[in-house]
Amino acid sequence: MADQQIAGTAADKRGQADSGVVARSIAVIGAGWAGCAAAVELARAGYKVTLLEAARALGGRARRIETDRKQLDNGQHILLGAYSETLRLMQLTGIDHKQAVLKLPLQMRYPPDTGGMDFVAPSLPLPAPLHVAAALLRAKGLQREDKLSLARFSTTARWMGWQLNTDCSVSELLERFDQTPRLIQLMWRPLCLAALNTPPERASAQIFLNVLRDSLGARRSASDMLLPRADLSALFPEAAARYVEAHGGTTRCGAKVQALRSIEGRLWQLDISGAAVGGTWSTYFGGVVLATGAAQAAALLHDLPDADTANLCHQLTAFTPEAITTVYLQYDAGTRLDLPFYALQDDAYSHQYGQFVFDRGQLDAAQAGLLAVVISASGPAAAQPQELLAEAVAVQLAVVFQRPELGRPEWFKVITEKRATYASTPGLSRPDNATGMPGLFLAGDYTAGDYPATLEMAVRSGANAARLLTGSAAQ
Ligand SMILES: Cc1cc2nc3c(=O)[nH]c(=O)nc-3n(C[C@H](O)[C@H](O)[C@H](O)COP(=O)(O)OP(=O)(O)OC[C@H]3O[C@@H](n4cnc5c(N)ncnc54)[C@H](O)[C@@H]3O)c2cc1C
Repeated sequence: MADQQIAGTAADKRGQADSGVVARSIAVIGAGWAGCAAAVELARAGYKVTLLEAARALGGRARRIETDRKQLDNGQHILLGAYSETLRLMQLTGIDHKQAVLKLPLQMRYPPDTGGMDFVAPSLPLPAPLHVAAALLRAKGLQREDKLSLARFSTTARWMGWQLNTDCSVSELLERFDQTPRLIQLMWRPLCLAALNTPPERASAQIFLNVLRDSLGARRSASDMLLPRADLSALFPEAAARYVEAHGGTTRCGAKVQALRSIEGRLWQLDISGAAVGGTWSTYFGGVVLATGAAQAAALLHDLPDADTANLCHQLTAFTPEAITTVYLQYDAGTRLDLPFYALQDDAYSHQYGQFVFDRGQLDAAQAGLLAVVISASGPAAAQPQELLAEAVAVQLAVVFQRPELGRPEWFKVITEKRATYASTPGLSRPDNATGMPGLFLAGDYTAGDYPATLEMAVRSGANAARLLTGSAAQ
């Protein structure tokens, strides 16, 4: 095992460090999308990578899970064409994203005759903002003042360079931009919930504008919506692990890092436990990318005697978690929706919890008849007993699609990730990748960056941590 080969006494390691053997050996702690991105970039740069994951599977908060019925994702995800780093690393690790995702033009389409709207960007490769203008012209279910209000938003945001002097909530921004109640209800609120997993009243307008700048405000392909056909572990994390191993590295699932120690500012000692390492091991590395969630990173950094660790730990534990619930409903394999996904009008007070519904069968033939209903910022829904929630969602589908059979699924599975993301609130302080300690870098969707907690933020953060580490090692 690679871990055992590099294990030894601190004195041995000091000798090896001087000869550069351990210096080029890097531990990446956590194999979510951030850790996988860091591991790939480090392996590409010629480092010997050990990717350590506490759980049994790769992927972290975006992974495949086994249930008693079938394999599902721990939550339905959606990617954007603007996810440039994610798409680049998927390609580097051998994933053909043309096969792995279904690409759809930017859209917000509600089931017909439900008082919603039908907004879809044309498939022509128009430059921004023409694709939005063309979509507006064709949009159904919006009044003239709603369309003018959206055009005004797009023009004003572009004129401001998508930049606010002082951050505020998305609700305040929409009020300032004089957006109509109908456009807020049908477009901005669902977009804000989907992108930031934070309700507009509490969400950061600047982070929202950043996402819109790179999607609505960019070339058409950046605004495309990409629905995974492959399961989330296969979509990138497993390909990343294969890439790391092909470049001489090692991946260990079921390997939890229990403690982290700096040895003379040149080496990092890790105590690792779990089935994958057969008990508890101490091993040494020249550098570490700490790619766990923020709270777990704080727990590992807590005991380091560095002066700034206390401030960093304080920042890492200050994030407010937000939940996401996915309700999977299995019907007869012949059951289909007319589109791969629809927006739904939610109203928790009348037990209409679903915000988007995806027809998994249109993405993967093995999942024919499976619908996935997503509820972002799902606190009130997640408080319901699972049976009642699944029933309420099934009834909601039966009513909005006027198809009584959707009220009677064969089986259901409710998955709530209580710490799916952190709330992206105005002016939220997020730590840099660099910790200030030599050879130790943070990676994760919570580090400083333009994006909210998303796959792209995680991947960008991982890639950046790797670049900083290789840069600092080269000095
Ligand atoms: C239900 C749901 C729906 C979502 N929908 C979307 C979406 O549609 N689009 C989008 O872009 N994003 C979405 N997200 C957000 C996205 O999944 C996350 O932002 C991203 O996966 C975070 O990746 P990460 O690598 O930063 O963290 P994580 O995925 O949390 O990875 C951290 C890893 O570290 C491991 N770990 C922790 N402690 C240790 C230790 N001591 N030793 C070893 N390993 C350890 C953990 O087991 C975990 O695997 C969604 C998230 C959820 C949960």
